[in-house]
Amino acid sequence: MENKTSSSNFIKSIVAEDLKAGKVKEVITRFPPEPNGYLHIGHAKSICLNFELADEYGGKTNLRFDDTNPVKEDTEYVESIQEDVKWLGFEWDDLRFASDYFEELYERAVLLIKKGKAFVCDLTAEEMREMRGTLTVPGQNSPYRDRSVEENLDLFARMRAGEFKDGERILRAKIDMSSPNINLRDPALYRIAHAHHHRTGDAWCIYPMYDYAHPISDAIEGVTHSVCTLEFEDHRPLYDWAIAECEMESQPRQYEFARLNVTNTIMSKRYLKLLVDQGVVESWDDPRMPTISGLRRRGFTAESLRAFCREIGVARAYSVVDERMLEFFIREDLKLKAPRTMAVLAPLKVVITNYPEGQVEMLEAENNAENEEMGNRQIPFSREIYIEQDDFMENPPAKYFRLFPGNEVRLKHAYFIKCEEVIKDEAGNVVELRCTYDPETKSGSGFTGRKVKGTIHWVEASQAVPAEFRLFEPLLVDNADDEDKEFLERINPNSLEVLQGFVEPNMKEARGQDKFQFFRHGYFNVDPKHTSESKVVFNRIVSLKSSFDPKA
Ligand code: ATP
Ligand code: MG
Repeated sequence: MENKTSSSNFIKSIVAEDLKAGKVKEVITRFPPEPNGYLHIGHAKSICLNFELADEYGGKTNLRFDDTNPVKEDTEYVESIQEDVKWLGFEWDDLRFASDYFEELYERAVLLIKKGKAFVCDLTAEEMREMRGTLTVPGQNSPYRDRSVEENLDLFARMRAGEFKDGERILRAKIDMSSPNINLRDPALYRIAHAHHHRTGDAWCIYPMYDYAHPISDAIEGVTHSVCTLEFEDHRPLYDWAIAECEMESQPRQYEFARLNVTNTIMSKRYLKLLVDQGVVESWDDPRMPTISGLRRRGFTAESLRAFCREIGVARAYSVVDERMLEFFIREDLKLKAPRTMAVLAPLKVVITNYPEGQVEMLEAENNAENEEMGNRQIPFSREIYIEQDDFMENPPAKYFRLFPGNEVRLKHAYFIKCEEVIKDEAGNVVELRCTYDPETKSGSGFTGRKVKGTIHWVEASQAVPAEFRLFEPLLVDNADDEDKEFLERINPNSLEVLQGFVEPNMKEARGQDKFQFFRHGYFNVDPKHTSESKVVFNRIVSLKSSFDPKA
């Protein structure tokens, strides 16, 4: 299904023009995650864009961890991010960390001070905020703005040496407090944080701000096209300022695109982390999570995620993508690949009274009606089978074509059966059905004697493999990522439904991440964490049908 020649987009056009005009010789991009959480489907869009941009023009893409905020970052995230990028099908050229550049970033900051372009400021965070002004009111200069170069060099060195407490001083760029762009009102370049860093340990107690570290890191790596999301558009003048004033040899350019939003999907690490920390979900890779690892465990394939990212395209206009688009692509991908077998999610026992006791026959069933190459399998049939509780009604409404007393249905791959008797427990619940079968009606025998309107699925009872089925609904029923409290209140209490049922005996061989289409139920993935010798656990990836076709 994969269409490798992805469609064009405005960033590709820019790259193509730059190459043609000789502005760049080789395209170099980077994917710059902060290791403060697991990657989500929005990141997948950025990954596909950056890697495919370079791939298309024979360039390079670095994976660079933007690890400038030690308090929130962790090696667990560093590892999961690498695993997810690889799993998505991309290979980075260099693996880098912004922390690799801490010494150079420091040296460049010293250069800024020497040029009179940066100063150490003693204002408190609150005073700074007050003096920054607003969109309509210009800011005020810091009283520390005119410190001499010598004093600034001395104070900055002492900041690095650990002489001051967190928040006591910062290094600021000296640009323009009356700029209409607030990002240029003497923004912070370095802050003090006596915090242990997952890579540099306790070597540093000052850390560069994102707006400073990012452009300089891009320039150090020779990145030509630094692609980011639209919220950084107003930061671009600062990006350019840093590269120019730090006298970087290489001149990367920043381009912005609209971030991916998906209906009913939380797309913020902060909220995803909250769900993990509050125990709303099992972990970052809970199959309900829109993380790449969650989608993988749910059963989405890398091919389907890449196809999705290509289809949604890259634009500057804000938009929200229908979640059914993602489902469309996994159905497309698995349609011809996944074996189609039978699973009973909520079992009701059926005894076929005229079938010889002790006899088990093997019936032939095709593995995928749309893909003959997948061949056939043998499934057992005997006097006792399980059917779906939902496929029987004692008092059915009109047009109910499944089992009810006196009615006949077709068992998929087997025979017609007719419901003769309903067995109930003391509370009046239906616990078993007694049926008869007609040997003449065997599937594949060419029987044309009479027709039935309903076909139901089943699993032979004596050899059935116990299985757990996990069905999902969105974690959040709408898209708003508002206040924390409101957010936790918005969680869908029915996001997980667990059912205990049975699958065909050949499923004993199923291994984590194997994917199947269960007749009438949808596509399922074998959960790699919860499946054990005694029980197979299936995550429903997606149900079978949707009227939604993004290409229609
Ligand atoms: P979040 O808002 O989820 O915390 P982030 O932007 O803080 O995301 P980063 O680790 O900084 O997370 O993101 C790495 C890259 O992925 C950045 O270039 C960012 O622009 C991009 N990215 C993040 N979210 C999306 C999204 N929803 N759609 C497209 N790109 C995204
Ligand atoms: Mg970010």
